[in-house]
Amino acid sequence: MALLEVEDLTVEFYTQEGVVTAVDGLSYSIERGEKFGVVGESGAGKSVTALSLMRLIERPGRITSGEIRFKDRNVLEMTETEVRSIRGSEIAMVFQDAQTALNPVYTVGEQISEAIRYHLGYDDREAKERTIELLDTVNIPEAKARYSDYPHEFSGGMQQRAVIAMALSCDPELLICDEPTTALDVTIEAQILAEIEELAEEFDTAIQLITHDLGVIAELCDRVMVMYAGKPVEKAPVEELYYDPKHPYTVGLMSSIPRVGDDRDRLQTIPGTMPDLVELPPGCSFHPRCPFAEESCSRTEPSLIDVETDEGATSPDDHLAACLEYTDGLTGGLEYEVVVEQTDAEEKPHQTGDGRDD
Ligand code: SF4
Repeated sequence: MALLEVEDLTVEFYTQEGVVTAVDGLSYSIERGEKFGVVGESGAGKSVTALSLMRLIERPGRITSGEIRFKDRNVLEMTETEVRSIRGSEIAMVFQDAQTALNPVYTVGEQISEAIRYHLGYDDREAKERTIELLDTVNIPEAKARYSDYPHEFSGGMQQRAVIAMALSCDPELLICDEPTTALDVTIEAQILAEIEELAEEFDTAIQLITHDLGVIAELCDRVMVMYAGKPVEKAPVEELYYDPKHPYTVGLMSSIPRVGDDRDRLQTIPGTMPDLVELPPGCSFHPRCPFAEESCSRTEPSLIDVETDEGATSPDDHLAACLEYTDGLTGGLEYEVVVEQTDAEEKPHQTGDGRDD
């Protein structure tokens, strides 16, 4: 049994313009201790999915169907008290903006201690000791002295580390990180990602990492799901996806990752923007932006299927993609090249993908 199983989840928002289907029939699972990445542009439905797991969708949004099973219990059928008891203790969340997660009028240490007292029932002294330990674990220098600092006395990187310490304070089984390093510069980003990885190993915590940056996923995750307009368009073990992407949208996301030896002045981006979720394009919702789109793409919606067997998923490690290429629905096929340059000490694979066979 997986730690988390999301099945057929649909989340809708009722707006004046119409019903926005932010997440549409989404299914995935996360094993204990696994690091699972969710990637896509803004509007793909990544954050709405994460908020659904903790039942934090607010009006005008509503989860209209599906199941979210955490440790085999359906979160959507729990009472408010039951959900509150797992929030922060069994499932914790780290948001992009550490500043808004920290209350400016309390010291950083008090805020973490408060969470420990509430969830674990520690007394004041025990909670303070545990907080200092945690601040030290996330590499806050002079943790004991910094316990009494206010958030504004911490740098951006230290604030994010403090938020991670708070999230880990109750030893959660699942840590959801929503763009945890987007606001930070690249050096601090690399440090924080390495720390999240180390801590997840140490605490044996599963991670759902949400980002728009496939490079971040490649560094940290075991498996990845690419989302577009509320739906998964590709799922695979991270190495397979990185070296051999099967969906044109994933290929577009990859072309915006800076690579070693890359001499392009400007990074390529996918043309166009995410479609209006009130009125999705018919057929494959990516077709207005897809360089391989054919007439059939605007008529038929592709299913998410195993790229080798043309069948549905049979195991979490299957490589799945939602493109008509894999049901023989394209006449021109997919033609693209994926070049992954690595550091000098490592092998330098150079792969050509035609979307099906290499
Ligand atoms: S189904 Fe068509 S439009 Fe959609 S990703 Fe495949 S080629 Fe592109």
